[in-house]
Amino acid sequence: MKRLALLALLLVLALLAYRGSRAACTCAEARAAQGWCEACAVGYVGPLELRSRGLFDALDLHGHDIEAAALECAGCRAALAADGYCAADGRGFLAGRAYLSPLAYHLARGETAAVERELDVVRRAVLEAQRCELCAEAMVSNGTCPRCLLRYQDGVASPVARGGS
Ligand SMILES: [Zn+2]
Ligand SMILES: [Zn+2]
Ligand SMILES: [Zn+2]
Repeated sequence: MKRLALLALLLVLALLAYRGSRAACTCAEARAAQGWCEACAVGYVGPLELRSRGLFDALDLHGHDIEAAALECAGCRAALAADGYCAADGRGFLAGRAYLSPLAYHLARGETAAVERELDVVRRAVLEAQRCELCAEAMVSNGTCPRCLLRYQDGVASPVARGGS
C-alpha cells in the first residue's frame, strides 16, 4: 500500500514536470493584448487569429522608442515631429514612438475606419501566407518580397525591376 502511494506520487511529479517543460498557454492574455501564444502558436490581432509567426511579427503592433537623430529619412523626421505617417517607409509616429506597420499606427491612434481597412489587408495576407509568407509580411508592412520581387503598397502588389530599388 505504501509502495502504491509512492508510485502515485512519482506519477504526479512526472506529470507536473512534463507540463512544466512545455510553454503554458497564454491565449487569454494574448487575445486581450494583441499578443502571441507560444503554446498554441497563434497570434491575436483584433478579431483575427494568425497562425504565421512571421506575419504576426511583421504587424509589429507595439510602439518602439526611437532616437530622432537615428532617423535617416526626412519624411520620418517630419512625421516624428508631427505625429504623422511616412508613406515611403510605411511607418508612423505617435508621442515620440515609432509604429512600424500601418495597422500598428492606426491602432495606436484609435482610428477605427483605418484599422478596419488595414484588417482587410491582414485578412488577405493570411491567405497569401499559404503561397508565400514573405509576401504576406510585405503586404502588411508596405514592404517588398525578396523572393517574388513584388512590392506592396496598401496591400496591392507591383513588380520590382531586378537590380532596381
Ligand atoms: Zn494558447
Ligand atoms: Zn521615412
Ligand atoms: Zn513572395
